[in-house]
Amino acid sequence: MIKENLQKLLTQINPGVSLIAVSKKKAIPHLLEAYEFGIRDFGENYVQELCDKQKDMPTDIRWHMIGHLQTNKVKFIVPFIYLIHSVDSLKLLKEINKEAAKVYRKIKCLLQVHIAKEDTKTGFYKQEILDLVADNTMAKLTNVEIVGLMGMSTFTDDTSTVTAEFKLLKEIFDQLNIRLDKRLEVLSMGMSGDWQLAIENGSNMVRIGSAIFGERV
Ligand SMILES: *Cc1c(COP(=O)(O)O)cnc(C)c1O
Repeated sequence: MIKENLQKLLTQINPGVSLIAVSKKKAIPHLLEAYEFGIRDFGENYVQELCDKQKDMPTDIRWHMIGHLQTNKVKFIVPFIYLIHSVDSLKLLKEINKEAAKVYRKIKCLLQVHIAKEDTKTGFYKQEILDLVADNTMAKLTNVEIVGLMGMSTFTDDTSTVTAEFKLLKEIFDQLNIRLDKRLEVLSMGMSGDWQLAIENGSNMVRIGSAIFGERV
C-alpha cells in the first residue's frame, strides 16, 4: 500500500516541491518500503526514535527533525541530522550552534513560525522573526544556517482558516527575503490533510505521514 500511496502522491505533487515522508511511530519495514520506492527524505518527531532508525536504515537517507526539540537532546542528532524544521526559540538555535561546532558541522535549520490558532503549536511570532533578522543575531551563529521557515496550520476542516494561515507564512517568507542578503529557500508547510492548500499558497516542502504510511495508532 505504501508504494501505491507514494505513486499517487508523486503524480499530484508539483515538481519543485520536496516530499518528506513522515515515518514517526512506523516500524523499519515500512520505512524500507518507501526507501525502495526511492524516498530519501524521512521526517521524525522524537529524538530517541530518530536515532534508533538512523542506525538501522541505509546511510544515504536525509533525516529531518520535524517535532519539538528539547535543548538537552540536541547533541544526539547533530552528528547526522540533515535539516531541523522545528527551531522554535533562540535558546534552541544557540544550542544547535554550540553542539554543531563540536562535531565540525554547519546544520541547516528552519525557523518554526506560529501561525495556528491552537496554543499548543509552538514557534516564533512574525515580529520576533523580523527582530531576529534585524539585530543580526543569526549571523553570529556560524554553525547553523537558516534556510527557511516551517509552519503548521490549525487542525480544522475550515479551509479558509487554513488558507489564511498559509498565506501569512508565505507573506513572512517573502518579507524576510526582501530584507536578507541570502535568500531563504525552503518553505515547509503542508501535511496529509492540507498539502494541496499549502502548495497553492507557496509551499515548496510538504511533510506527509498518514497519507503514505496509513493512520498512526
Ligand atoms: C506528524 C507530523 C506531520 C505529518 O502528519 P500527517 O498528518 O500524518 O501527514 C507533519 N509535520 C509535523 C510537524 C508532524 O508532527
